[in-house]
Amino acid sequence: MFDKVLIANRGEVALRIMRACKDLGIKTVAVHSQADRDAKYVKLADESVCIGPGPASHSYLHVPAIMSAAEVTDAEAIHPGYGFLSENADFAEIVDSSGLTFIGPSPDLIRTMGDKVAAKRTMKEAGVPCVPGSDGPIPDDDDEVRRLAREVGYPVMIKASGGGGGKGMRVVHTEASLLNAVAMTKAEAGKAFGNDTLYLEKYLGQPRHVEFQVLADRHGNAIHLGERDCSVQRRHQKLVEEAPAPGITPELRRELGERCAEAARKIGYTGLGTYEFLYEDGDFFFIEMNTRLQVEHPVTEAVTGLDLVAEQLRVAAGEPLRYRQEDIELSGWAFECRINAEDPETFSPSPGRIDHLHLPGGPGVRIDSHAYTSYVIPPFYDSLLGKLVVDGESRDVAFARLSRALEEFIVGDVKTTIPLHKRLLRDGRFQNGGVDIHFLERFLGEE
Ligand code: ADP
Repeated sequence: MFDKVLIANRGEVALRIMRACKDLGIKTVAVHSQADRDAKYVKLADESVCIGPGPASHSYLHVPAIMSAAEVTDAEAIHPGYGFLSENADFAEIVDSSGLTFIGPSPDLIRTMGDKVAAKRTMKEAGVPCVPGSDGPIPDDDDEVRRLAREVGYPVMIKASGGGGGKGMRVVHTEASLLNAVAMTKAEAGKAFGNDTLYLEKYLGQPRHVEFQVLADRHGNAIHLGERDCSVQRRHQKLVEEAPAPGITPELRRELGERCAEAARKIGYTGLGTYEFLYEDGDFFFIEMNTRLQVEHPVTEAVTGLDLVAEQLRVAAGEPLRYRQEDIELSGWAFECRINAEDPETFSPSPGRIDHLHLPGGPGVRIDSHAYTSYVIPPFYDSLLGKLVVDGESRDVAFARLSRALEEFIVGDVKTTIPLHKRLLRDGRFQNGGVDIHFLERFLGEE
């Protein structure tokens, strides 16, 4: 096992990784911007290094500063968390070539999965069901594009191969607007991602977002840890997640999960990986793979009893998986609510000082948050303040606990998404489970 790990991230995930390291007896190095100097996890780390000013481009994305922090502290491995450099293949390569361990899959696989055309091709070949569409990039010839869209059937979606964060996508309902949409998406993609390759997919009307968690070691073993339903999204940003996904039978879970694990073995995947699917009318369609720890990993931890970050550290250190597929048993139900420091009506960020903080507790409640009373939320970063994770023996029990925990949760005087979560929980459709990816926007529109 590693002796010392540098955590190249901030906020709740930096604290989460640090906790796993401490449980495994690993020393930790926190790197932080000037804006995060008073952060709780910086104080809890064995060592800390300031890597630059507040804006992420000058600190958390500044590779030379992070590498020299690793060098001066003698760290053996770097955990990238999520966001920032976590899916940056060049960074992973630099870490590896400096003789350190990047905690994640190989740079080549990160690169492949970051290119969605390549990712889809790889997954299709490995036996994972994909959204019907173009086999590779869409052709240059206008007639060919029209023929392809007709073949796939309208509505279709034009997507950028280098896209991310819900950007670089356009829905096309009729042939009349096809070529214009292609031209616009191409121009945007070139500007935003430096890659104007596009692909085309069937646009699914009312899918759910269901993703499978996979864990693989460096010895060719891979298992799946079931699925999560992340359909409650606004502008492709997840807000509530749950595990398992309502209505997924054990047979379907086994079939899809095993296909994901088998694909991981085939492509030589290592570490934690998430296969994102759209799920509609009983069918799964792969859309992308995330080659990192996910924000919503705790719901999987709650139903499997595993510490995913500890397992991730173990396999990165070269240890073989400690579980076979038959050892994994899902039990109970879990929800996660993302508590963002933003206005629950307008969703504009709400940075500033937390004057008082009252955290919920009791059976089945877990809080992953770096916040504390008098903590000042810096204006530079993502608004995620923490996560409320609740579990119980059944969906009903977990739901009641979630409702109770949200009532207890007080963050003053910054605005948070807590009131929105409370309103959501009163909605019959959410209570029943199985809402589609457009539900939240509909709900907000109705309000
Ligand atoms: P990103 O990397 O930007 O998140 P994804 O390919 O994962 O891009 O798609 C983001 C979201 O866009 C999905 O969660 C889903 O809501 C929507 N989406 C993507 N592809 C389709 C499709 N073929 N049909 C309907 N919705 C889609």
